[in-house]
Amino acid sequence: HAKKQGKNNYLFYDSAMGAAGVERLRLETDLRRAIERGQMVLHYQPQVDTHTGNIIGAEALMRWEHPEQGLIPPYKFIPIAEEIGLISQLGNWGLNEACRQLAEFQARGLELSRVSVNLSALQISPMLVSDVESALAQSGLDASALELELTEGIMMDGSQDTVVTLQSLKNIGVRLSIDDFGTGYSSLSYLTRFPLDELKIDRSFVMDIGKSQRNANLVAAIIAMANSLNLELVAEGVETGSQYQFLTEHGAAIIQGYLFSKPVPADALIPMLKERSFDDQIRQLNRGVAF
Ligand code: C2E
Ligand code: MG
Ligand code: MG
Ligand code: MG
Repeated sequence: HAKKQGKNNYLFYDSAMGAAGVERLRLETDLRRAIERGQMVLHYQPQVDTHTGNIIGAEALMRWEHPEQGLIPPYKFIPIAEEIGLISQLGNWGLNEACRQLAEFQARGLELSRVSVNLSALQISPMLVSDVESALAQSGLDASALELELTEGIMMDGSQDTVVTLQSLKNIGVRLSIDDFGTGYSSLSYLTRFPLDELKIDRSFVMDIGKSQRNANLVAAIIAMANSLNLELVAEGVETGSQYQFLTEHGAAIIQGYLFSKPVPADALIPMLKERSFDDQIRQLNRGVAF
């Protein structure tokens, strides 16, 4: 409030805030202008079908190309955008950009059947439904080619509005996925209450597979549960061949992680699609796997 009352108060406020506060205020100001200045960018991380080696989808992950600070990762600006009321605008930009990009890929004959977009809990509102419809209409993308990644927190807010919003999204024909599965304060009942298509087992579980038999058993149980509920399962954060082997042997069909690729700019995804970059790697990896 002080900062709106004039120059002197502004300076006073600044010195009281300290250097970290000043830095944060600058980031906020910069972030408010980042979209119009063309500084936001999506990177894409391939999701690989372990049976065919096909890249069946890509997750869009937002980055901020800051003119002075370079590429800023989402954990440094998404929370700020949420706090200053900018997340819907930012999220909507991402939604449109991801749809535009995939439609462009498809128009060029590149084989990629879907793109996943992360949603903040604060974006879940009736307005989201029209934003999604508009992104699909603008891009001409088929609704089934768009997947929205939700967090367990969204499922757990308990409000009827959330149920209605997610059902409306489902009615449009987009896919709904639960991100970071198993890390939230969750009640499993939401898995049947909401119209979900996919479950993404969190990276932390994948990392723990090798640590103990109990951890490995938990991962196997999550995969079995997803399969029996007819939810597609994506394992994320897969970095090693032994993680791959364990996951696929226990029925995980789609793998996302540094084992195949980090998130890359759209231009770098194109050769991966054209050259079917993971075919050989999948063949090699599957030699050790008893499906
Ligand atoms: P997420 O949706 O769970 O995305 C997966 C994160 O794990 C990404 O980090 C990805 O780069 C990283 N990752 C994938 N495979 C591996 C691996 O094998 N090893 C390791 N160490 N990391 C791996 P990133 O891009 O920094 O994104 C972090 C989080 O920021 C995302 O987690 C998501 O929650 C959020 N985020 C990203 N883009 C958006 C967005 O457009 N909107 C919203 N609301 N949140 C976003
Ligand atoms: Mg995600
Ligand atoms: Mg995740
Ligand atoms: Mg996450």
